[in-house]
Parts: sequence; C-alpha cells; structure tokens
Amino acid sequence: MDPLGSETAYARQLQQGFRHLRFSAALEAQYQDELAMRMRPRVLWLAAVALVVWLGFSAFDAWRIDASDFDPLRQLTYDRLRELRLGVGGVIVGVILGTLRLPARSLRPLLTGLGVAMAFGTAASVYAYKALGVTEEASVLVVMMVALFLPLGLQLRTQIVVGVFFVVCVVAIGLQAAQPLVAEAMLRAAAVLTIALAVLAAGAYWGEYLQREQFLYRNDAQWLAMRDGLTGLHNRRMFTHQLDQAVRQAQREQRPLALVLIDLDHFKPYNDAHGHPAGDEVLRRLARVFERFATRPLDMAARLGGEEFALLLYDSTASHARASAQAVVHAVRQLALPHGASPVAAVVTISAGGALLQLGDTPHALYGRADDLLYQAKHSGRDRCCFEGAPEVGRTAVTPAPGPGGAAVSGT
Ligand code: GH3
Ligand code: MG
Ligand code: MG
Repeated sequence: MDPLGSETAYARQLQQGFRHLRFSAALEAQYQDELAMRMRPRVLWLAAVALVVWLGFSAFDAWRIDASDFDPLRQLTYDRLRELRLGVGGVIVGVILGTLRLPARSLRPLLTGLGVAMAFGTAASVYAYKALGVTEEASVLVVMMVALFLPLGLQLRTQIVVGVFFVVCVVAIGLQAAQPLVAEAMLRAAAVLTIALAVLAAGAYWGEYLQREQFLYRNDAQWLAMRDGLTGLHNRRMFTHQLDQAVRQAQREQRPLALVLIDLDHFKPYNDAHGHPAGDEVLRRLARVFERFATRPLDMAARLGGEEFALLLYDSTASHARASAQAVVHAVRQLALPHGASPVAAVVTISAGGALLQLGDTPHALYGRADDLLYQAKHSGRDRCCFEGAPEVGRTAVTPAPGPGGAAVSGT
C-alpha cells in the first residue's frame, strides 16, 4: 500500500463512499480476495441446505404423487420430474465436492452454479406440478427463495444473476406449456417472483453495503494498529512480533536472518535548521528507500520510533545482507536531501548496524548486537554501516560470524 500520511486508503474509501458497491481497484481486489477466503464454509452450508430442501421435496413428492393412473403425457412429465430430481441433486453433490477441493477463487462461480441449478430445478418442478395437477407449488417457490436467496443475498451481483435466471426460467417454461392454464399460472408466478426478488435485492444491497463498510473499518483499524502513521512502515509493535517469529522460524529451518538497525545522523540539528515539517518529509522519503530493501514476504522495514528504523532480512546470506546494508546507506546519500547543519555531509545521511542470527540466539541478543554495531557506526564517524563479521568494503572474502560483540568492520 502507498505511503499513507495520517489517513489510510480504507479511511479515504469510507469518506468517498461506495454507493455502487465498488471500491477503488486495489481495495476491490483485496476485498474480493478476503471474501473468497471466507466463502468456503458459507458455500458448503448453502449447498447442504439446498441438498436437504431438494431431497425433502423429492421424498414428499414420492410420497404424495400417485402415478399409477397417469395418462402417457402425464407419465412422461412425471418421469422428467424424477430425472430433474436426480440431475439437480447431482449438481448439488458436485458443488459440495467442488467446495471441499477447489481453490478459493472457484467458489464464487460454484455458488452461482448452485443458484442457477436450484432456480432451474424449482421452475421446472413448478411447471411439472401444474401439468400434473399437483397442488402446493406456491410453497415450493417460497421455501426455495428463503433457502437460496436470503443467504445469497449478501452478494448483490450473485443474487441478481440467479434471480434474473430464475424469472427467465419460469417465463420460458411457461411459454412452452401446452395447456394455456398452466402457461398463465407460470406467468403469474413469474410476476410474483419478480416482485419478491426485487424486495430481496434491496435487502441484499444493504447487506453487501454493510459487509463492505465493515471490511473498511476492520482493515483501517488493523492498519493503524500495525503501521506507523507518518511513514506507513510497520511500527515497533509489528517489528517486535515479526522479529520474534522470524528468529524462531530461522532457527527451526536453519535459514540465515539479518537485522539492520538504522538511525538518521544529526537529525535534531536538521529539524532545528529546516523545521519539523521538513524533517517529517525526510522521514517519509527515507521510509520509501528502506522498504525497497525489504521486498520478500518475510522481510520487514519498520520505523521503531523517532528517526530510528529497522530492516529485517530473512533468508538473506551474510554477503547479501551486508551488501544490502551498505546499499541502504549509499541510497540515502544518493537521495541528496540537503542538510544544512550536519558536520558529516552536506546531505542527509544515516548510520546502520547489522547483525546476523547465530545458533541459539534470542531476538533480544540479535537486537543487542545490531544496536552495538549501530553505536559503533555512530562513533566511528557516522554515514556508514558496521556489519557483524564483515570484511572491509571492497574485499570479497567472508569472515566467519563472530560471537556476541565480535569484531565488526565499518565501511561506507
Ligand atoms: P545522531 O546522529 O547522534 O543520531 O544525532 P541525532 O540528532 O539524530 O539524534 P538525537 O537522538 O539527539 O535526536 C533525534 C531527533 O530526531 C530528535 C527529534 O527532533 C527528531 N525526531 C524524532 N522523531 C521525529 C519526527 O517524527 N519528526 C521529526 N521531524 N523529527 C523527529
Ligand atoms: Mg536516535
Ligand atoms: Mg539520530
């Protein structure tokens, strides 16, 4: 996410509103991803309800419809109805199996498929009941609507697709009907259905609106809890948590882990000379540089407070971590932000201390060594990085990592 200043993208979207149930592109993608992740239990639950309703109707029909004195035409309709029971039942079972096995992004089409199958099955059943002269068809519609459309209702688009399909099915089947009375009854049912679906769609709109609003509030709060308001980088709380996790994971998987602590040089005089707002801008600019060096999933760039930052580099070899630390110092100097009150350089500079995780290290010990090296960088002239076990800059040989407080060599 972009640098946020004091306001998050979520808060901005809340302010702009989303009457058409659409966020800006990046937020919309995140919302859809989050929705897909939570969809599995919901689709399963819906499919299970659909299966119970469908089996219930099938059993009820088998019990109440006596086909023994049907004429050939009715017998044919009855056979079709039984095939329909099997076909739709098969689709529901297929949806349940698919929901259990397919990736999250397939769930939305599965849900739509379930709705479409149920809508077609219901419309065709109503037709069959009318053609067979069986009563109670109105209750089928009501039960199907409650079972399907209320839970589907939180997603307006899905509901509209299934609802329109439902009405079209009822109308199309009605127009095909041989008996005019059946055709008329089907068209009447379609009219009632349209009104009911319109009312449900209004409910679905508000359901989805509230769901989206909750998403924005939840993520806004989460973002503020994890991020630094000025720079948008992770804050100290997240850093401490991530350091703890990363140390444990690195020890377990025997991967290298590097911690680089960074402190701006002579930043108090900068504020005094250029003003606090200009100082804030420097912090933001530098934050963008630091995050460029923490791009892998387990890496982290964090603002620990004031003008102190940290880079956590997971699975980064000693030489790569050392080169990164040197490159950060270099990149900040390259920004060439004028510093009118620094005895070190005419531009803003940083000092950095880098340490590598050793066997049996605690997060505290790793942090302590990086901090010692940062102190060393400050006291050996600033605008440089001291890295644990590092050879002089320019040499290629890698010396073994020393124990706590071991030798570190500085370079710029
Ligand atoms: P050194 O090279 O030894 O680190 O010197 P320094 O002046 O950077 O260190 P010192 O700890 O004396 O001062 C840190 C300064 O950082 C003090 C404060 O003015 C500034 N600072 C801390 N947080 C912020 C902030 O959010 N915005 C601005 N503009 N300045 C800040
Ligand atoms: Mg400081
Ligand atoms: Mg400082």
